[in-house]
Amino acid sequence: MKGLIFSVKRYSIHDGPGIRVTFFMKGCPLSCWWCHNPEGISPVPEKIELAEKVGENEFIKIEDAGKYLSVDDMLNILEKERIFISESGGGVTFSGGEPMQQSGFLLEALEACKKNGYHTAVDTSGYSLPATYSAIIPYTDLFLFDIKHLDNEKHERYTSVSNTLIINNFKLILDSGTDVMVRIPVIPGYNDDDYNLEKIRSFLIGNRADNLKKISLLPYHRIGSSKYKRLHIPDRMKGVEPPSAARMSELKGFFAETGIKIKIGG
Ligand code: SF4
Repeated sequence: MKGLIFSVKRYSIHDGPGIRVTFFMKGCPLSCWWCHNPEGISPVPEKIELAEKVGENEFIKIEDAGKYLSVDDMLNILEKERIFISESGGGVTFSGGEPMQQSGFLLEALEACKKNGYHTAVDTSGYSLPATYSAIIPYTDLFLFDIKHLDNEKHERYTSVSNTLIINNFKLILDSGTDVMVRIPVIPGYNDDDYNLEKIRSFLIGNRADNLKKISLLPYHRIGSSKYKRLHIPDRMKGVEPPSAARMSELKGFFAETGIKIKIGG
């Protein structure tokens, strides 16, 4: 079996503990307005335009977003980084897109990584079948779990799906005893209103557990915005500015009341 991967990031330090290799898998059932990896949403390979400057001239290069890798290909990549991974207490992270969209391949890859001694993390939107989470839990050391909005109507409007399944899967994973780090994207004007933030904080307090290790507050950024142009898809976030450092530190204080470790950034 092969998996469709749109990016491989070596020396990643924001996708779980230590130095990691992150595989970004293609396909996502959500369509978040602020997605900074829009090339990860479609489940098929795509072409993406890249502008390259040579002197005064700009050339457009077409690159593939999406390449098929086998589990052995992944293990070979990991093997080359093993020393950094083991010295730093790192591992491998499967991100996306939504890695659960390629659940058969993900399960195979996680099993192989565990067998080869790697710490495994899955970065998920939480939107997949509960049985699929149950299948991968025995081979997953850590979930990076996104919580975007607890107002279901707004969740549907901004991500295209309901949050009911996501909330249920969050509880399922937490109840399994597997470590979880929550990721909250902070998107000004979309999910940073008092009502939503208060609901998320109460939800996390209500679900506090020893295996709920950390809350990461991820400030919205415009780094991926040029990809929309290059993929010829509309950018619905034009004009939205990242939250200020002062605002992020205010939110850090706000979420500190959960009693859970808080970090700004991944
Ligand atoms: S869940 Fe993540 S990858 Fe999927 S659309 Fe939202 S931001 Fe993008």
